[in-house]
Amino acid sequence: MPDIDLVVRDITQEMQQRTDRGQVATYIPELGRVDPNAFGLVVIGADGKVSAGGDSDTPFSIQSISKVFTLTLALGKIGDRLWQRVGREPSGSPFNSIVQLENERGKPRNPFINAGAIAVTDAILSGHQPREALGEIVRFMQFLAQDPSIKIDEDVAASEQRTGFRNIALANYMKSFGLIENPVDFTLGVYFHHCAIAMSCRQLATAAGFLAYLGRNPSTGLSVVQPERARRINALMLTCGHYDGSGEFAYRVGLPGKSGVGGGIIAIAPGKASIAVWSPGLDAAGNSHLGRIALEELSKRMGWSIFGV
Ligand code: GLN
Repeated sequence: MPDIDLVVRDITQEMQQRTDRGQVATYIPELGRVDPNAFGLVVIGADGKVSAGGDSDTPFSIQSISKVFTLTLALGKIGDRLWQRVGREPSGSPFNSIVQLENERGKPRNPFINAGAIAVTDAILSGHQPREALGEIVRFMQFLAQDPSIKIDEDVAASEQRTGFRNIALANYMKSFGLIENPVDFTLGVYFHHCAIAMSCRQLATAAGFLAYLGRNPSTGLSVVQPERARRINALMLTCGHYDGSGEFAYRVGLPGKSGVGGGIIAIAPGKASIAVWSPGLDAAGNSHLGRIALEELSKRMGWSIFGV
C-alpha cells in the first residue's frame, strides 16, 4: 500500500503546477473573487490520521457540499417521509435545471440538485423560525467537524440572495405544486445561507468522516447516523453528487462524492478514507476541474475505487 502522506504531497505538487484550472464561478458575484490558484487536499484515515497538502486550512464556500449535511439532518428529522417530497434518481441535468420539474409535477429528482436541496431545506425549516433552522445546520457542522469556529460567510449569502433568480424561480415553481411548506423567502433564506457556510478541507474531511466509517466519526468516536443511513447517503452521492457529471465522476474516480460551485469536493472511500479537495476553477458541469483530477489520481494510486483496482 503506498504511503498516503507521500501520495497527498505528490498530488498537491502536481495540481499546484498545472495551468488548466477551469473557470471560477461568477454567477454568485462574491465567488468570482476567489484566487483560482488555491489548492487544498485532506485525507483522513480509519484511525483518524490526517494527511494534508496545500491550502488545507483555508476556509472556502462549501456551497452544494452543504446538501449532504442538510440531507442527513432532514432524514434525522422526518426519516423516509422525506422521499415523498424528493426523489432518488440521477437527473442527467445541470444543478439548477428547471425542465424536469414540470413533467414530474414539482417533485425534484434528487436531494442534490438545487430544487431537491431547496425541498430538503424546507423540511428542516418546518416548525422552526429560519434563524433556528440555520442555527441547527451550523451547529451540526460545528459538531461534525468538532470546530466551533465554523460560520456563514455573510457576504457570499447576501451576494447569492441578490442574484439567485433561478433558485427563486425553482422554489416558487415547487410552491405552486404544494411541495414547499414554508414561505418561499424563508426557505430560500435558509438555503442561501447554508450554501454560504465557509469551511476548510480539514474541517470538511473531518465532518464527512461518519460517511466513511459506518456512521461513526473516527476523529471524534461519535456516532452520527446508523450504518444503513451512511450507506444510503453514499449511494446518493455516487449517483447524483456531481449532477450531469456524476457518471463521469464514477467512471474516473469511483467514489461517492459531492461537489460545490465554490470548488470543493468531498469524497468517501468506504472503510478507508474521508477526503476533501478544493480548487476553485470549475468544469462545464460546475464541478471542480482539478479537484476531480486530484481525486482520480488519489483513488488510482491508493486503489480505492469501490469498483476495484
Ligand atoms: N448555492 C448554489 C446555487 O444554489 C449551489 C450550487 C452548487 O454548488 N452547485 O446555485
